Amino acid sequence: MVEKSGRRGFTLMELLVVVAIIAVLAGILFPVLARAREAARATRCRSNLRQLGMSLSLYRSDYDDTNAPYRSCPDLPADPQCFSLKEQGRSSGPNEHWWAPLDTHGAGTGELFQFQRPASTYNRPGLVDPYVRSNDIFQCPSFSGQVGFAMTFIADSPMGRADAEVLKGSTDPGRLMVIWDHGNGPSCGGSSIPGNPPNRRPPFSPVIGPNSTIHYPLRHFDQMNAVFYDGHVAARRPSQLRDSDFRPSGSLPLADPPLSP
Ligand SMILES: [Zn+2]
Repeated sequence: MVEKSGRRGFTLMELLVVVAIIAVLAGILFPVLARAREAARATRCRSNLRQLGMSLSLYRSDYDDTNAPYRSCPDLPADPQCFSLKEQGRSSGPNEHWWAPLDTHGAGTGELFQFQRPASTYNRPGLVDPYVRSNDIFQCPSFSGQVGFAMTFIADSPMGRADAEVLKGSTDPGRLMVIWDHGNGPSCGGSSIPGNPPNRRPPFSPVIGPNSTIHYPLRHFDQMNAVFYDGHVAARRPSQLRDSDFRPSGSLPLADPPLSP
């Protein structure tokens, strides 16, 4: 008697069924995994901001209760905080420092920094560097360029000013955003919005729409992360931003068009 072998190959139909099942499972799992990865990045982003908030408070206690400025430009003696620069992304000279460390990628005086290019070597120390353990915290993990966070230098914002002055003018300092997710350079002041003189720096408005996504990126599940003046960190929906997120209530100028108070 000849025994029949019980083994046979898969039929084409069986193979197709298996492939279809794998495709369905992958279709279900990939978005879940992508969401989990982004949730982890958002958590790291908030942890970085929390540590940056602590570094700002240490800086403040070392500098007679004055807040770190967003940038220091000793090469412009009449304008040490660089407010008058038409384009904030250009180097004002070899001695300038931003609050965060930078890789200048060789940008000379008057040349544009390439913030969209990741940093390989931080060759320009940041003003709060002495108060942090690792340069990694200066980076939003969901941003591919360097930094990905901006410090406010909007008119009447806390940065570069005495703590007492900020607290005097503010009904709720815990409301003031100091550093937040940003899709370009490490500062946000909107000084180049037409119609606003350089010393009046409103928040960029409108806060939603294609152009606003540089200033308020929908980076972490349609939200952006921010550290506030009291050091707490929270996610914000750009559509909910108000004027009081940027400066003490009632101070001028309001954004154009005005945000809700
Ligand atoms: Zn972020």
